[in-house]
Amino acid sequence: MSHTIELRKVSKYYAGENTVSMGFARLDLTLDMGEFVVITGESGSGKSTLLNVISGLDSYDEGEMFVCGEDTTAFRTEEYEKYRKTYIGNIFQDFNLVNSYSVYQNIELVMLMCGKKPHECKERINELIELVGLTEYKRTKASKLSGGQKQRVAIARALAKDAPIIVADEPTGNLDSESANVVMETLSKVSKEKLVVIVTHNYDQAEPYATRKLTMHDGRIIEDKMLRQPSQVEAPAEKPLGIVGSAGKRSSDDMRKSNEIKLGVRNTFNLPAKFILLFIVYLFLSTAVLGMYASTKQSLNAQDILGYNEYFKDTSPERIVVTKEDRTPFTDEEIAKIEDMANVEYVVKNDIGIDQGVALDSGDNSIDANVYDASTLKKKQLTYGKLPENDNEVVVYADSNSWSAQYLKEEGEKLIGMKCRIVSEMDYSIKVSPDTVTICGIILDEDSKTMNYTGYAKLYVTEAQGKKIASSQMHFLSKTTLGFGSNTNTNYNCVSMIASSKVPVGKTFISEDTSYNFGTDKAVGKTVNVMVKNSYYTEYAHLKVDKVFTKKNIKSLLGYEKNDYDMYSYYVFVNPADYKKLFDKGYYQVSAYMSDSTAYKTTAKGLEEAGFNYLMLKDSLSDMTGGFQFVLKLLSYASLIIEIVVLFFIAYAVIRLIMRSRNSYYSTLRILGASKKNTDNVLRIELLLMMLIAFAVDMVGVVLLMKGIIVYQPLRSALNFLGSTDYVVLLALLLVMSLLIAKRYSRKIFSKSAMKAYREEV
Ligand code: ADP
Ligand code: MG
Repeated sequence: MSHTIELRKVSKYYAGENTVSMGFARLDLTLDMGEFVVITGESGSGKSTLLNVISGLDSYDEGEMFVCGEDTTAFRTEEYEKYRKTYIGNIFQDFNLVNSYSVYQNIELVMLMCGKKPHECKERINELIELVGLTEYKRTKASKLSGGQKQRVAIARALAKDAPIIVADEPTGNLDSESANVVMETLSKVSKEKLVVIVTHNYDQAEPYATRKLTMHDGRIIEDKMLRQPSQVEAPAEKPLGIVGSAGKRSSDDMRKSNEIKLGVRNTFNLPAKFILLFIVYLFLSTAVLGMYASTKQSLNAQDILGYNEYFKDTSPERIVVTKEDRTPFTDEEIAKIEDMANVEYVVKNDIGIDQGVALDSGDNSIDANVYDASTLKKKQLTYGKLPENDNEVVVYADSNSWSAQYLKEEGEKLIGMKCRIVSEMDYSIKVSPDTVTICGIILDEDSKTMNYTGYAKLYVTEAQGKKIASSQMHFLSKTTLGFGSNTNTNYNCVSMIASSKVPVGKTFISEDTSYNFGTDKAVGKTVNVMVKNSYYTEYAHLKVDKVFTKKNIKSLLGYEKNDYDMYSYYVFVNPADYKKLFDKGYYQVSAYMSDSTAYKTTAKGLEEAGFNYLMLKDSLSDMTGGFQFVLKLLSYASLIIEIVVLFFIAYAVIRLIMRSRNSYYSTLRILGASKKNTDNVLRIELLLMMLIAFAVDMVGVVLLMKGIIVYQPLRSALNFLGSTDYVVLLALLLVMSLLIAKRYSRKIFSKSAMKAYREEV
């Protein structure tokens, strides 16, 4: 019959940096069920080392150790884990309890670890608490107990998993004699059906209970004395352990997922200070990633606009595009400040008009042009006519590269006084200004120095007229979503709304075709929900349907011809005031023109010092090619990834510091025999839960920001570019980051043997 434990010529050495010290050497020993073995000997004689080897906390270097007949030579970490978990109940001199857990939770911990369901253990835990006489302390935190009480909890815990072997290293070493006696008595009470091995330097305390005494000296057993007959117990040795090979497989005593979750959740909240610190770090991490992700999306979107529209039509080297750091509209003072800067000749507030083409349509002929501010013109520049005197007068400029140069040259003065509409160059049916304008002046510039890449003429208008045009252009550059009850209709870079003074404020006229969006119900009285998003702002309007226009009544309602119905049936008509509220919200971007483009560096420096963002068109010229766009996009992604990686390591360093308070917890778990896998999962759940909490708080922040309860414009405008898929991607990204943090952290705590990790903690 095999012994419960059998050591054959086993040695254990400790390798230091340059030295090797002996723990014990060539020990032969057999231990059997029912024995209460007391090991004594002077300090340094190898008692603890022997106990640690027996309990699988430490490996040995020579010889063979058998447990219940099974050779442990081939045991790997997982097999030792399994051995410790199923066979060994450890009791330590310093108790090794989880201080932040209650008495009940400490005992429950090992039962959860061994695959019991929480409700299954309840009765047994209460029994054990009663057995060690701590019923009234059941809900008390371990940190609040006296030494003797702690050791009794440790005994209850060692018993909780029903392991056949109990080992205790100086269990009474930290106790006064009275508590020590209670502990010894408790141990002897439970020893009847088990193998109990205790180390003590106070033999007298143990003597009344021991069945066998071992004395060690200098790494050897010098005395092995039978004191009384051990109790007769069936040894579990009859059936082989089957540890080798079975470890790693899921068995009934593996920790359940639900138990891992239970412990993970318990650990998240049971140390309030740790929770708050970790929460702050995670909130920082999640907010930073959210912000970086959103601003990357925003800049990619801006690049798309640049690439798609060839945004900057006027690429003259004198031009600098200026925006504000916080992406709010410019105030008059700020514009004046830029105007006052040295080398700045003038500032174009409506620079959106410069880059978006319009067509000046006389019915017979049309001129493609970009829109400029007439106040920058001087009388002497005019070839024919006069400067604008009201908002309906315009000056046309053409240099030799303009497509319309020939036409303007031939017609010349005859064009003065001609009435025109200003329409979208893409679609002449869309008026970009509600007004009919008159050409009042013409400039023919035969020897212009500036390269004109586009062939556009220039249209000089008053500031008020410029604003009207710019708001249509803003509409064109925006994503406009129209909500008709449950139907929505989203338009990108397209005009879907027309201002008409025939529509009352707060109301809208929609076509019969559009009205079908409301289903079979009558559309009149229903609300059209409008959302306008662009790179500067998001704006909403809720407009009540006032009239539904048809082929028949389009003339009386809106003044269009019957045949125009098909053309206009796609649009919704709104009052100019509502239109203005959606699209004319101030100047988010202006262009400064320098008097001397070679002195651009000083101007750039001035703008930078004043806190503005700028783009020197001079620099952007060669950059606006397709290949560069692609590289730019790639760079945006690459820099996002780099930022996230840097953030990850910063967060990891901080989290590791905070989690130090957890180190003793995890080494306790491991000493109790929890597998690496289970311990990993408990840690993972704790960190994932933290991330979910932080993300949820962030989402509340996003909602408050979007509702305008919190005001922070730069983030809000960036968030406009995130949709629900982006939030899902973000959450996934953050959870992966959290898992990686858990992985790194666990690699750190598992890189050492259980005993080493434990020693370092104590
Ligand atoms: P005891 O428990 O009887 O006091 P130990 O088993 O702790 O003795 O120690 C036995 C011998 O092993 C001692 O000489 C001690 O210096 C050495 N030893 C114990 N633990 C370590 C360790 N972690 N590193 C190096 N040497 C150790
Ligand atoms: Mg010792």
